Amino acid sequence: MCRHLGWLGADVTVSSLVLDPLCGLRVQSYAPRRQKHGLLNADGWGVGFFDRSSDGDTPRRWRSQTPLWGDVSFDSVAPALRSHCVVAAVRSATVGMPIDVSATAPFTDGQWLLSHNGVVDRAVLPVTSQAESVCDSALLAATIFERGLDALGGTITEIAAADPNARLNILAANGSRLVATTWGDTLSILRRADGVVLASEPYDNDSDWEDVPDRHLVEVTATGVALTPLDHSEGYR
Ligand code: GLN
Repeated sequence: MCRHLGWLGADVTVSSLVLDPLCGLRVQSYAPRRQKHGLLNADGWGVGFFDRSSDGDTPRRWRSQTPLWGDVSFDSVAPALRSHCVVAAVRSATVGMPIDVSATAPFTDGQWLLSHNGVVDRAVLPVTSQAESVCDSALLAATIFERGLDALGGTITEIAAADPNARLNILAANGSRLVATTWGDTLSILRRADGVVLASEPYDNDSDWEDVPDRHLVEVTATGVALTPLDHSEGYR
């Protein structure tokens, strides 16, 4: 499973979230602490952030199919990238999935940035021409974009009912909202004075990190954080 991280708050540097922390995504690319599936995340990385310098909130991405730990160009530029809203991930590709930039999170529809930590049987996903890759996560992202992020909880429970082995941990943001689901893997929240971090695992040893229970929807906005249990009882229709 991959590891991902989201930020909503004040403008901060991308390096302060991804590269600098003691156990941030750079370290998680080779030594994750809570990873249940896979040993390390060497199959690429992606950092997406919202840019207010242009008209409105524009999603921008920098992705690579090489390990994050060795990327000296990103290491050099990340301290100069500042944003109020970030979605970043390091990847451990599922067997059979392509290893290239187009299969690397975050995916986008032009408004949202989305990362998927997990696996899903592609046969249960609707056929779509909008996906960025044939990778399961890209097809899942396209499905979620098509149904709208307001329906995220319902979409996840439907897909989980259709594929009981699926692990569906989503992290998505649009510049003013940061949303996530837990379905089969860990997620932690850090409420800082300047914003909120959602991450597959804590990026340091701060005792303020809180674990999100499995099968929950998390919504972060400027006004706070809301957790909602995801109902699995409705089944797939
Ligand atoms: N299934 C996705 C992929 O192949 C995500 C893998 C993961 O979470 N490790 O990229």
